[in-house]
Amino acid sequence: MTQDSSATPGVQPLLGMTLDQLQQLCAAEGMPRFAAKQICDWLYAKHVDSIDAMTNLSLKNRSRLKEMAVIGRHAPVECQVSRDGTKKYLFQKSDDPSQFIESVFIPDGDRGTLCVSCQAGCKMGCRFCVTGMQGFHGNLSAADILNQIFSIPEFDCLTNIVFMGMGEPMDNLDNILHSTEALTAPWGLGWSPHRITVSTVGIIPGLRRFLDESQCHVAVSLHNPFGSERQEIMPMQRAYPIADVVALLRKYDWSGQRRISFEYTMFKGLNDDTRHAAELVRLLKGLYCRVNLIRFHSSPDTPFKTSLPKDMERFRDYLNDHGIICTIRASRGEDIMAACGLLAGKNQ
Ligand code: SF4
Repeated sequence: MTQDSSATPGVQPLLGMTLDQLQQLCAAEGMPRFAAKQICDWLYAKHVDSIDAMTNLSLKNRSRLKEMAVIGRHAPVECQVSRDGTKKYLFQKSDDPSQFIESVFIPDGDRGTLCVSCQAGCKMGCRFCVTGMQGFHGNLSAADILNQIFSIPEFDCLTNIVFMGMGEPMDNLDNILHSTEALTAPWGLGWSPHRITVSTVGIIPGLRRFLDESQCHVAVSLHNPFGSERQEIMPMQRAYPIADVVALLRKYDWSGQRRISFEYTMFKGLNDDTRHAAELVRLLKGLYCRVNLIRFHSSPDTPFKTSLPKDMERFRDYLNDHGIICTIRASRGEDIMAACGLLAGKNQ
């Protein structure tokens, strides 16, 4: 694959640009308007990795484009493979190669899911999360987000994308929306938005905009239904209480194909008893949703412990018995630190 760099001043990556943005760029450079559509076709349908490959653009326009733009593709610098077939890719941040981000490919029968990152590190400071412990080291551009998808060997067998890697999507929303638009628009990959899930701790202004502007599925990290207890592990609860997040979600229609799910990582003795299950039922009552229980993956730096399997099953059964669809999410890639909450770039 051609390696190009958008770190050069005045040079911008084309990957991640929307048709609108490309039309503006073509107009500014004196190129015909239809060239924008041609560039989209080369970028997204044919996924070329060099401007020279865009052979229906005139030589003059290709040269002009090469002076001020690059494709924005770069290969992962490392790949680790788990015993269970999960693969963790390490990428450099293109505008700051000292920063690394990770993506995780999870094969499962005829499904291939890629978990992508949207920031280097994270500002949210969730106390159980290895990414959160690193602090924040910058937003990923739409090009760096899409590069994780376009530059892995499994690109052609991807069926689903989840924005659940490093970072909080609602804290880098413009780039998330440009990326999901490129994945779903007819001028882009043309995927159904229901193949894409974007997660959030519940940053209400960003979530509201995302719900209005996108049709992708949403996953809210809940982890404790009691505000005072949630705040102990998720500082953003103070600014955006989970009750307010759920109140916002109730204003949207979830009876169609678009799905809302709640991620609930289970910590032994902290959020895994019937009191929590009952409060969760109360909080979510009447909302068409599902709850995914996630086994906590213990790391040496946290005081938290993993819930016992029997307690997770009891919790799941309680929710199902009380009308909330609940499943225990299979854990993948734990041996290569690729499981939920364990992504750390090069800093682990
Ligand atoms: Fe950030 Fe998500 Fe980790 Fe919280 S769990 S610190 S939002 S990456």
